[in-house]
Amino acid sequence: MNIEQNSIACQLSLVRATLPEQVTLVAVSKTHPVEALREAYDAGQRIFGESRPQEMAEKQAALPQDIEWHMIGHLQTNKIKMIAPFVALIHSVDSAHLADAIQREAAKCGRTIDVLLEIRVAAEETKTGWNFTELMQYVRSAPFARMNNVRVRGVMGIATNTTDAQVIRHDFAELKRCFDMLRPYFGARFDTLSMGMSHDYGYAVECGATMVRVGSLIFGERDYTARPEPVAAE
Ligand SMILES: *Cc1c(COP(=O)(O)O)cnc(C)c1O
Repeated sequence: MNIEQNSIACQLSLVRATLPEQVTLVAVSKTHPVEALREAYDAGQRIFGESRPQEMAEKQAALPQDIEWHMIGHLQTNKIKMIAPFVALIHSVDSAHLADAIQREAAKCGRTIDVLLEIRVAAEETKTGWNFTELMQYVRSAPFARMNNVRVRGVMGIATNTTDAQVIRHDFAELKRCFDMLRPYFGARFDTLSMGMSHDYGYAVECGATMVRVGSLIFGERDYTARPEPVAAE
């Protein structure tokens, strides 16, 4: 099947058809133009995932206001203010420093911002996220009790980039285990396990994902020459 020749609406319905009803689909639209998001919106999609604050803010201004914007990429603290007034969920909280900065910006906007804790399970060293042991220490130290404007809704993670199903399943099972261990610390609204992308979301659903982040399968391959990846670190 050639994705290029299928419409976005068609791809979207193909992906939706493979998902159980209780699993939320985040359409990852990073690098794709507003017209592409509009096509998905017209096909009923309301949740979009972006990885860069500037790009998300531009798209948010240009598209209908009932869209839920999810930040899925690594977030620099100095860019939170671009998205704080409207972002629905930040998937990628990977440090206490970032959580504190989100708390400050959310308070300034008079909002509560929902977040996920990103946990590192993949074999690659390049993948971001908390080391689980450090995360447990942080959670036990209970700084969340003081964060009135940040609500921790669950866990996010990325599996090892491989075609080996056993490795992928192992990583997703590990994320599910972390999710279950953290649950007692956060209460009833800790209900989101975000894992799985275009090539591996089927395994993620098998392992208990409540939310999947699917990009290229819906929108086609990304063209990074149109919107180059940022090179500079924070
Ligand atoms: C880009 C991205 C996705 C979507 O990847 P596809 O392979 O295009 O589905 C999902 N999650 C994160 C964190 C991403 O950065």
